[in-house]
Amino acid sequence: MLNVKDYEFWFVAGSQHLYGEEALKAVEKNTKEIADYLNGTGKLPYKIVFKGVMTTADGITQFMKDANYNDNVAGVMVWAHTFSPAKNWIRGTKLLQKPLLHLATQYLNKIPYDTIDFDYMNLHQSAHGDREYGYINSRLKLNNKIVYGHWQDEETTAEIAAWQDVAVAYNESFNIRVCRFGDTMRDVACTEGDKVEAQIKLGWTVDYYPVGDLVAYVDAVAEADIDAEYAKLAEAYTLNPGHNTQEHFEHCVRYQLREYIAIKKFLEDNGYNAFCTNFQTLLGLEELPGLAAQLLMRDGYGFGAEGDWKLAALTRLLKVMSHNDRTVFMEDYTLDLRKGHEAILGAHMLEVDPTIASDKPRVEVHPLGIGDKDDPARLVFTGAEGDGIDVTIADFRDGFRLISYPVDCRKPEAETPHLPVAKQLWTPKCGLKKGSTEWIKAGGEHHTVLSFTITQQQIVDLATMFGIEMVDIQ
Ligand code: MN
Repeated sequence: MLNVKDYEFWFVAGSQHLYGEEALKAVEKNTKEIADYLNGTGKLPYKIVFKGVMTTADGITQFMKDANYNDNVAGVMVWAHTFSPAKNWIRGTKLLQKPLLHLATQYLNKIPYDTIDFDYMNLHQSAHGDREYGYINSRLKLNNKIVYGHWQDEETTAEIAAWQDVAVAYNESFNIRVCRFGDTMRDVACTEGDKVEAQIKLGWTVDYYPVGDLVAYVDAVAEADIDAEYAKLAEAYTLNPGHNTQEHFEHCVRYQLREYIAIKKFLEDNGYNAFCTNFQTLLGLEELPGLAAQLLMRDGYGFGAEGDWKLAALTRLLKVMSHNDRTVFMEDYTLDLRKGHEAILGAHMLEVDPTIASDKPRVEVHPLGIGDKDDPARLVFTGAEGDGIDVTIADFRDGFRLISYPVDCRKPEAETPHLPVAKQLWTPKCGLKKGSTEWIKAGGEHHTVLSFTITQQQIVDLATMFGIEMVDIQ
């Protein structure tokens, strides 16, 4: 379900006819060479397609229209190779509805002191062409990205690659469909929001279904399908019955697999790629989906607990951006406030995504204090170490706000024998006190997306693309 289409990015150079056809041929050759080089690095997640040298307003306008209407195109990249009169770009750029990257580079990475002459200068004009082109983007208040540097520098490739992932996530955001099984948790404020505004601004479709609709799917799951999933589960993870009888353990695990198969089928049948549950809305279900939700997150579905549809959509969005690599729904669970130990322990009562596990997850069955249902099976594991970011989204009457800080991730300092859930420790890089204070002041909630692969800059770029507020806590 995580699969996104094989997107491409269209790349053009800006030039003009002032210096003759030979110059334009040279521009085309240089630009093709850059496209081939960047594709050849093997570092870009999506292919760049050279689409020509742009010299006229009509040509640029047609190019932008084509980019808009080609669903495989995730964004446009422009290099102002020559001094490209930017009035030519106004009409087309205003029509462009996809992310735009201005590659501010120059063909040579140096000044050729010994050979430079006016022919060279007539052709290689990026130094002032970039300013001319940038002026119009700035004046049009475009949310475009500028990547500045020589095209063969590793840093340039890395910045283009990171931006491509953001641009594809932006495109895919308009395909995010969240299925809400039940409403948000009663009395809770931060999980509420304006679903119509979310669709207008972020492209998210958010729909409600009574849990009874899911119960019909759960009841219809065939035992043979559960057998097959049980075998896969036993191969991927460690089955740990612990204090349970084998019969009770297997019953609870099989029920979660039944829920897993049923939810997946329900989402596929109805075209959803993210979902929410609420422990207050379980009529007709034996267990709150725990292991079931974990397996669906592993598969790439977005998820929000307690009806948190904003975080379900954000989880799906950032899973797309990260190619489902260690990017997970999370919750600020409990704190270590001692000097030298400052940290947030992240977990959830059940639903922690196993893609961040540093050990082999164990399938366990334990009672759950809330929800008043049977003991849910869940995966228990330890999180990982490394750099990461923690992100959330808040809805205010005047718009959505992304809130994010870079974090240091660590494993918990000790086992928690009486808290059988998956756990991840992290500390904001700016410090727990400063980071948490600014997070709370910005209205950031306790449900978040934790990622080991997305950078803070990508979240800033994402907010810029959407034109929404970003609280960048550093
Ligand atoms: Mn929660």
